[in-house]
Amino acid sequence: MASSSSAILVRRTITHLKNHPPSLSWCLSNHLLLSRNNSQSHNNNNNNNMAVPPQQQAASFSTQQPSNAGGGGGLPSFMRGAVYWEPNKPLTIEEFHMPKPKAGEVLIKTKACGVCHSDLHVLKGEIPFSSPCVIGHEITGEVVEHGPLSDPKIVERLPLGSRVVGAFIMPCGNCSYCSKGHDDLCEAFFAYNRAKGTLYDGETRLFLRSNGKPVFMYSMGGLAEYCVVPANGVSILPKSLPYNESAILGCAVFTAYGAMAHAAQVRPGDSVAVIGTGGVGSSCLQIARAFGASDIIAVDIQDEKLEKAKIFGATHTINSAKEDPVAKIIEITGGKGVDIAVEALGRPQTFSQCTHSVKDGGKAVMIGLAQAGAVGEMDINRLVRRKIQIIGSYGGRARQDLPKLTRLAESGIFNLSHAVSRTYKFEEAGKAFQDLNEGKIVGRAVIEIV
Ligand SMILES: [Zn+2]
Ligand SMILES: [Zn+2]
Repeated sequence: MASSSSAILVRRTITHLKNHPPSLSWCLSNHLLLSRNNSQSHNNNNNNNMAVPPQQQAASFSTQQPSNAGGGGGLPSFMRGAVYWEPNKPLTIEEFHMPKPKAGEVLIKTKACGVCHSDLHVLKGEIPFSSPCVIGHEITGEVVEHGPLSDPKIVERLPLGSRVVGAFIMPCGNCSYCSKGHDDLCEAFFAYNRAKGTLYDGETRLFLRSNGKPVFMYSMGGLAEYCVVPANGVSILPKSLPYNESAILGCAVFTAYGAMAHAAQVRPGDSVAVIGTGGVGSSCLQIARAFGASDIIAVDIQDEKLEKAKIFGATHTINSAKEDPVAKIIEITGGKGVDIAVEALGRPQTFSQCTHSVKDGGKAVMIGLAQAGAVGEMDINRLVRRKIQIIGSYGGRARQDLPKLTRLAESGIFNLSHAVSRTYKFEEAGKAFQDLNEGKIVGRAVIEIV
């Protein structure tokens, strides 16, 4: 049997990036993308104290390397990624040294990355995150390299060339939560990635080509041509599922599944209300239908989204800009309220609507991230006397849930093509987030990275 190190150091030959134009004109392709000069001055002013590995420092002084010199036998030396610098400043597309996976990690050639509100919260400064960073956390792609000394079982499960989908919560596999199967609570993910913008050795895998400076990673930093992901956060994508549509499995559908399967534990015949029918909310409708919910009530302020909600399984729709959603939900359910209400917006007002929509003993599931410091209020006596359950849920459990989600999509029980309403090119990343911010995206948008 071949040693694990010899097996995993093989890199596939990838040629299509070798002839990248040296020009950086892609930065100018829309008004949200700054010129490289702007972004560089940004970067030079940035004080971050992350260590730059020696090999990256050395590489940073060489700008004349042949494009495939550092790829270890086929991969290009450099790649592009979309960088967030500071709140409300445009994304810029920058060149990076080719990221290198470490043990237990895979390098993925990214094919598609979803456009999610969590990224938008970061871009707007509503949720603090280390910067500069590459955003994007909902990806599909192809495995092109394994980290050295990775467990042979990982190589066996994810051979080079595998089509994969990545979950935004990337479990370490070893912490007290992961060891119990609670991947969604992984300590390393929150301590290193969400708190510091790194992977679980405390370091990023992203270094700018221009000066070798480190750039942080929101999850895997998926809005880039390549990304490094802990192998536990990756699952095989069947050939029948297209790269673009399937990207949303890693956050929108993953989050919805976590909420419905683990937090709400939806049973056949349950009544479910979903407040906010964007990418995650509309996925909740589909999952609720898949789990056999009877009454499925969609609440939003846009009629267009509510029309689409019917395709996803909504049996009733409520435009909360025109009528009181709580009163209407109570009316639809014969005066009782729903078994399960899901809040997918992260706002104090909808938090309250969610808790008031559930019946006695019902579950109010909160999945919308809010602006940092936002507080939701609850009538304590109703909570106590009527045994209301308020449950937070951030996402699914990658190792168990991601393979199930792909099967739901493969069988058509979860319809991916209905869920993805729009596709942008990589160079249009800034516009995609602007459109999301302006409420112009119905369902979910995906950025194609080819
Ligand atoms: Zn997301
Ligand atoms: Zn863990």
